[in-house]
Amino acid sequence: MTLKIKEHTCQTCNGTGFPAVAQPIRPDRKIYPVKCRDCDGKGKITDAN
Ligand SMILES: [Zn+2]
Repeated sequence: MTLKIKEHTCQTCNGTGFPAVAQPIRPDRKIYPVKCRDCDGKGKITDAN
């Protein structure tokens, strides 16, 4: 019995793990990179099958 794990690139963040965020209007405000919640910052999604 072989267990195959399929993965595909997360389309939400395009495989980067961090989806593009809007640039802040005020430059003095820091924004933190938000981990992609679809892939949990991995950039890949494991297909449960
Ligand atoms: Zn993602």
